[in-house]
Amino acid sequence: MSMPTWNTTALLFAALLVSGYLLEGLALLLDSRHLRHPLPAPLNTWVEAETWQKTQIYTQARHRLAIVASTVDLLILLPFWFGGGFLALDRWITGWHWDTLATGVAYIGLLMVFSYAIHLPFTLYGTFGLEARFGFNRMTWKTFVADQIKMAILAILLGGPLLAGLLALFYQAGSLAWLYGWIGMTLFSLILQWVVPRWILPLFNRFSPLAEGEPRRAILAYAQSIDFPLAQLFEMDGSRRSSKANAFVTGFGKNRRIALFDTLIQQHTIPELVAVLAHEIGHARRRHMAKMLLLGILHTGILFMLLAVLLEWPGLYRGFFMEGMPLYAGLVFFGMVIGPIDLFVGLFFKRLSRHFEFEADRFAVETAPEPAALISALKTLARENLANLMPHPFYVLLHYSHPPLLERVAAMEERIRHG
Ligand SMILES: [Zn+2]
Repeated sequence: MSMPTWNTTALLFAALLVSGYLLEGLALLLDSRHLRHPLPAPLNTWVEAETWQKTQIYTQARHRLAIVASTVDLLILLPFWFGGGFLALDRWITGWHWDTLATGVAYIGLLMVFSYAIHLPFTLYGTFGLEARFGFNRMTWKTFVADQIKMAILAILLGGPLLAGLLALFYQAGSLAWLYGWIGMTLFSLILQWVVPRWILPLFNRFSPLAEGEPRRAILAYAQSIDFPLAQLFEMDGSRRSSKANAFVTGFGKNRRIALFDTLIQQHTIPELVAVLAHEIGHARRRHMAKMLLLGILHTGILFMLLAVLLEWPGLYRGFFMEGMPLYAGLVFFGMVIGPIDLFVGLFFKRLSRHFEFEADRFAVETAPEPAALISALKTLARENLANLMPHPFYVLLHYSHPPLLERVAAMEERIRHG
């Protein structure tokens, strides 16, 4: 590898990436320091001092892991980049004399494998070290390996053709490629809405109709009371991987499915389960998924337009010491440069998501037979999952798709008082 001569564009891009890294690191450090304090009232009545202590150690350990992982990431990326690694890889692959599409897929595919290999030790330590130490991990090695193989096959079967199609489009469709790409991507994501709950999620978990019994009866009675058709109510074996509990909704209209983790059913009373379900139905009733999907489509459109512009800009390639302007490499560089910029769009989406959570909570309080049941359910969830009860506002801004528990409970109590 010959050392390329540095240029301003490269330094600018590097500054952009390092800024993103520093911002992320700052958020993690602030959040770690913020939770050193003992819990103030009323939080100290929600969890025992011992649980809070465990939460502090757990959250700090997770943050440390995130900092180490992103630092290693950067320490490998920068020398690879500034040592001319992107060009060297291209020369190696073009030496195979494959056709352009295959070359492009190989180039991007190899970089993805490379990045996967760098992250693997951290994933392993996270699951079998950290999560296991705090009693959360239920995953066996067998499940872990099977998961990785299934995800690799999915990436090849779904990602491969998608990538090849995208490259073909940009090679052939000329100035309207971004528009066709946007339409194609939108169709793909709409089809996924149907395919994922039916064919993909069942590859990883078992979904069985929620068994007859008191929880099912209570949930169906509630759904009927608010006139919500609930044909597809599932129990999911979340306990295969983690003791952490959750619930979620997929699909729209008649295709809508609600899944409750088995761990959720074990840890909660029936009124709490009904309240959690009411929250999920609240999301559906307020059309949160549809709104997010629409905004996501709009966001994709903007990214495609930017992509079309940047792919034509020689600076994008020069900044990564590439000779010529191979489209497939441009795609990779675009992804790297746009990441830190897109962070700000991410802030907006997170903010909107937190707003939707308040709305769904409100719906649950207004319609569930026991309005306060969601509050006790969320407190139990926070205790069981060792959720950080006092996150730093900057960290919340960057990462929280759900508002901190204190804010959610305050909003619900306010609603109940004025009910
Ligand atoms: Zn929610």
